[in-house]
Amino acid sequence: MDSVTVRVPAKVNLQLAVGPLRDDGYHDLVNIFHAVSIYDHVTATAAGSFSTEVIGDRSEEVPLGDDNLAIRAARALAERAGRPLAARLTIRKSIPVAGGMAGGSADAAGALVACNELWKLGLSSAELLEIAAGIGSDVPFALFGGTAVGTGRGEKLTGVTTGGRFHWVFALAEGGLSTPAVYGRCDRLRESRGERVGPPRESTALMAAVRDGDADALGAELTNDLQEAAVDLRPSLAATLDAGRERGALGAIVSGSGPTCAFLVASESGADDLRSALTGSAVCRAAVTAHGPVRGALGYEPDAVASGRR
Ligand code: ATP
Repeated sequence: MDSVTVRVPAKVNLQLAVGPLRDDGYHDLVNIFHAVSIYDHVTATAAGSFSTEVIGDRSEEVPLGDDNLAIRAARALAERAGRPLAARLTIRKSIPVAGGMAGGSADAAGALVACNELWKLGLSSAELLEIAAGIGSDVPFALFGGTAVGTGRGEKLTGVTTGGRFHWVFALAEGGLSTPAVYGRCDRLRESRGERVGPPRESTALMAAVRDGDADALGAELTNDLQEAAVDLRPSLAATLDAGRERGALGAIVSGSGPTCAFLVASESGADDLRSALTGSAVCRAAVTAHGPVRGALGYEPDAVASGRR
């Protein structure tokens, strides 16, 4: 086997509850991840040394060296194996770069699964999960996909059974937003108001909507504590969110740290209609449709983690 290709999805946060700033610089989070059908493809090819090639929209903004999360993940896997392994990684990007949809984390998860197979290491999903958590808080979720609650920094995962397929439209923005900058702005906005921030809590109403597959209820419950900060840094996002709401979206939210905006809609045809309307407007660079939940890099069925079927 000379090369292995793994498909890995983007995520949207159905709920992102951000606790107070911790002494180690991180925040405690309750993060309800949902994998959606926008995919990067990571191909690992046998090679004598590590290298990366990135293809696709805005690929020039992705670092090619050791800063690339996929390369970091592949190197960490080789180190764990304790053998002088290497690979060439080709990343075909569809997940918007620096878009709040965890594209870099997805590529890291894809690289772990692809290299595990290319190098015939036979590491279990639990072992890959451990390496993934060392690379970044969003990487473990990209391995499993589906819908899951992440706690701690987001890396402790519990799968959630989802009662149906949800339909989404994503409005892609010009340029990215830096995740640390958005967290920093969130802290400063809270400080300036003298806000006392309690521990983050999972929304029971949102969890019920997910389990019931109730898109109307889920649309009303979507929340993102980073949204205010993302809109503060990029005021044009307010008009993007309004445009989706005015055109009938059941819910509108900034995805993660933004600037991508996510709209939950009632049906696949509703998603096509909203995508067309947003594409012709001035409120975004492009719009794409997707559905969730979908499989992560390991390829398990979306509910397999929640139900123990893996
Ligand atoms: P986050 O997971 O923090 O929400 P994001 O989804 O906003 O991030 P990413 O596309 O993951 O954005 O990229 C964030 C930054 O990570 C980029 O600006 C880029 O410099 C760096 N990066 C490293 N590796 C990758 C990769 N394989 N793909 C995309 N970006 C990468």
